[in-house]
Amino acid sequence: MQPKSNIIHLPVYEPGKPMEEVKRELGLTEVIKLASNENPFGTSPNVKAAIENEISNVSLYPDGAAVELTAAVASHLGVQPNQIIFGAGSDEVILMIARAFFHKGDETIMATHTFPQYKHNAEIEGAVSIEVPLKDGKHDLPAMLAAVTERTKVVWICNPNNPTGTIVTRSELDEFMQKVPSSVMVVLDEAYCEYIDDAEYPDGLAYLSKYKNVVLLRTFSKIYGLASLRIGYGVGHPDVIRSINQVREPFNTTRFAQAAAKAALEDKEFIRFCREENAKGLAYIRQELERLQLTAYPAYGNFIMVDTGCPADQMFDSLLRKGIIVRGGHKLNFPTSIRVTVGSQEQNEKFITALETSLQELKTRV
Ligand SMILES: *Cc1c(COP(=O)(O)O)cnc(C)c1O
Repeated sequence: MQPKSNIIHLPVYEPGKPMEEVKRELGLTEVIKLASNENPFGTSPNVKAAIENEISNVSLYPDGAAVELTAAVASHLGVQPNQIIFGAGSDEVILMIARAFFHKGDETIMATHTFPQYKHNAEIEGAVSIEVPLKDGKHDLPAMLAAVTERTKVVWICNPNNPTGTIVTRSELDEFMQKVPSSVMVVLDEAYCEYIDDAEYPDGLAYLSKYKNVVLLRTFSKIYGLASLRIGYGVGHPDVIRSINQVREPFNTTRFAQAAAKAALEDKEFIRFCREENAKGLAYIRQELERLQLTAYPAYGNFIMVDTGCPADQMFDSLLRKGIIVRGGHKLNFPTSIRVTVGSQEQNEKFITALETSLQELKTRV
């Protein structure tokens, strides 16, 4: 048996190291995972009741069209229900866009380095990825625009960018949108937008009414704290959303995910709390990095990319042995950097303490 030739070289996704595995391997009792940008405060307390309520329905298929949740999100965003599509995480929305829009040989443009799922799914469909290097850790929109050809189907803009955490500003995006052909779909991945309170940060919703070719990706995995339930969504023009809906699996989101997402959306107080704690955490980490004379990219989401000046694999191992799991830049093409999720204040302090010790250990070794 032979799989499709265009998938043979694809890697199997390597997630952040699971906490249980690290505890077992290193004999640690306490491990802090700051590797997957999960919410350190969990999720809204309302979510538990919403999930419990659905347990009696576990034998029934979910509502594939997620009608109730769609209405709730539409009203939350101020868009029409036919502008929204749900996926098993926004990862699945990326997959569905690729599945619905790419022919073999189509071109698609993304930054390098950015969220890997754009390229991954494009390649599965046989599309050609045109990767435009980041400039100072930021999307280089003029260069991405210059890469557009007649074969370009989709441009992916990860805002803020994972893994660097930088943003494309409103004026940069305005200029890009004015110039990009309307036949090219522009996907704005806004997985962390709920964390951001900055006048420079463009709200993708503002572009929807003006540009039919814009699709937003959002998720319940990050600030809403529902990563395990797998639910995210796309927002776009009704015609585009209809095309994506045509390739959707009939029951792609579960009852639990839909009910939990609705409950999470309603708890605005929890979201406000998480946004504020994250901002405090980021400020604390930045201030400590300055004390340690380390540089980092400007961070806007719930993670920060820090240049430790040490080989990233060594820093990763050193922090791991102290019970802190981060993302090593060696896996992301940033050989001396680590990507760290902003945790609770207590977790952030433990991270900084471990980082300081690791820096000393790695320095005395050379
Ligand atoms: C976390 C993340 C997602 C989506 O995650 P799901 O859990 O699949 O919703 C999408 N894009 C970026 C950039 C992310 O960091």
